[in-house]
Amino acid sequence: MKDLRDYTYDGLKDLVERFGERPYRARQLHAWLFRGGVESIDEMTDLPKDFRRRLRDGGFYIGVVEVLKTRRSVDGTVKLLLGLEDGSGVECVLIPDGKRLTLCVSTQCGCSLGCRFCMTGGIGPGRNLRLSEMTAEVLAASSLVGSGLIEGYGRITNVVLMGMGEPLLNYDEVLRFITVLTDPKAMGFSTRRVTVSTAGVVPAIKRLGRDADINLAVSLNATTDVVRDRLMPINRRHPLKELLAALRSYPLRKGRRITMEYVLIKGVNDSRDDAYRLVRLLKGIPCKINLIPFNPFPGCGFERPGHERVETFWRILSDNHYSVVTRASRGMDIEAACGQLQGKRGL
Ligand code: SF4
Repeated sequence: MKDLRDYTYDGLKDLVERFGERPYRARQLHAWLFRGGVESIDEMTDLPKDFRRRLRDGGFYIGVVEVLKTRRSVDGTVKLLLGLEDGSGVECVLIPDGKRLTLCVSTQCGCSLGCRFCMTGGIGPGRNLRLSEMTAEVLAASSLVGSGLIEGYGRITNVVLMGMGEPLLNYDEVLRFITVLTDPKAMGFSTRRVTVSTAGVVPAIKRLGRDADINLAVSLNATTDVVRDRLMPINRRHPLKELLAALRSYPLRKGRRITMEYVLIKGVNDSRDDAYRLVRLLKGIPCKINLIPFNPFPGCGFERPGHERVETFWRILSDNHYSVVTRASRGMDIEAACGQLQGKRGL
């Protein structure tokens, strides 16, 4: 059995050719699958009946991902738990903010990288999500938004690949997902409104710079290898020097900057020395910095720094001419904030 939403436009062109159908059928299929959000082959009413039957007989279908639960935070953030075909659960989060409604999409069930400040890392490696499953997150969330889930927002404006998992460890499928997301004839998001966030898989960052024209965010979180090794085991494979060199040579379109995510953890990476080191480390990298005061969870062994500490860190960066914002954690009460996604069924 093959889910038609696992095919990009190029794949659909090949498929249509194999079935001996006219090439424009691929465009029709593509639009139904990624714009129309149909749930069965028979809903694609402008395809000949016989073609639809042959698709079904050939083992093709359109997978339906169930929204098992929605939880709404007091701050307006909404977390969706989706049930996948194999029984696993995956979460995505809608974050309303001014004119923007951002969807934070998961790219894996679980994560093998084990960052110490992240609950997803704590559940261990799961599996890569397929194109059909990542697009299902967008389609499910879009449909709920379209039906008035979040007052004042008619559609999703931005997509960040920053939910469960490390996108660049699911590289090929994520690249296909980006293709569908940004294809004007599919989901149609502007490349400026799509961001991939990585923990620092350096070889894949280099590839991404060549393969895709989207925004890059990097979860940095430390200014020395000793601390980063402790917080993010991937640093032992790709230490800071290697990561920063890759960012320095990352091809950026005019006016674009890399977003540096820095989770501030009390007594671990939030000192004045850290702030000054960060100023030096990021020199020459066109970037903006997001400071995220840590969201503690049971058993993590870390604490959130006090307001003054965060303010001092912010000021040092700002005084050194970095564009820096302290991101208010969104959706903490529903465990939808950064590093809190677990995809547990029944949440
Ligand atoms: S922060 Fe991202 S890369 Fe690290 S464990 Fe969590 S999901 Fe994985």
